[in-house]
Amino acid sequence: KLIAAALVGTMVLTMAGCTSKTAETTGSEASSDAAGGTLVMATNAEFPPYEYYEGENVVGIDADIAAAVADKLGMELKIEDMAFDSIIPAVTSGKADIGLAGMTVTEDRLENVDFSDTYAHATQVVIVKEDSDIASPDDLEGKKIGVQLGTTGDIYAGDIKDATVERYNKGSDAIQALKTGKIDCVIIDKQPAEAFVEKNDDLKILDDTFDAEEYAICIAKD
Ligand code: GLN
Repeated sequence: KLIAAALVGTMVLTMAGCTSKTAETTGSEASSDAAGGTLVMATNAEFPPYEYYEGENVVGIDADIAAAVADKLGMELKIEDMAFDSIIPAVTSGKADIGLAGMTVTEDRLENVDFSDTYAHATQVVIVKEDSDIASPDDLEGKKIGVQLGTTGDIYAGDIKDATVERYNKGSDAIQALKTGKIDCVIIDKQPAEAFVEKNDDLKILDDTFDAEEYAICIAKD
């Protein structure tokens, strides 16, 4: 009986090996008309918990989603880290197959790319120093506001009367500028804001937020 069980076990393992091999082969054949077996994801890996570095690797919610998509397509995932405002150009030029970067679906972006179904809800929040006189987004008139270049936070800040908008490539650079008093606040997506504030006791997030937004994967229109 024991020998029989061992043999069955060996067979199952052997068959499992065959199955995954077949899946790989089918995958690379299926993908030959897509990206030659590699799914290239463009992102800006400065946006925890969606994308950030763990050692040399880009990890996070978006990296996990892309890995699951690549797996389903039988493709190998390659992540390209770039400035946030380079992601859509990378996708439209075909340098990347997908843009996954906690990217909000906006009318403007829809003119250049298509979006998948949305996968997360978000809002823009305001981060200030603990002792700030700014108590709500209504107090931002005439203030120095830090944002990430080309993001929805950048768009909102641009609409605020008499405000000076300082644009940074990384959320963490905006946070640093806020801590050293170069700017009065930072407008950024809520989840990265929480990740930044958790590491900085001298900062807080205001309760009031801007309008609701939705994240989706962007792909070329064709
Ligand atoms: N959700 C914001 C946007 O799409 C910010 C995204 C980001 O900085 N990665 O503009």
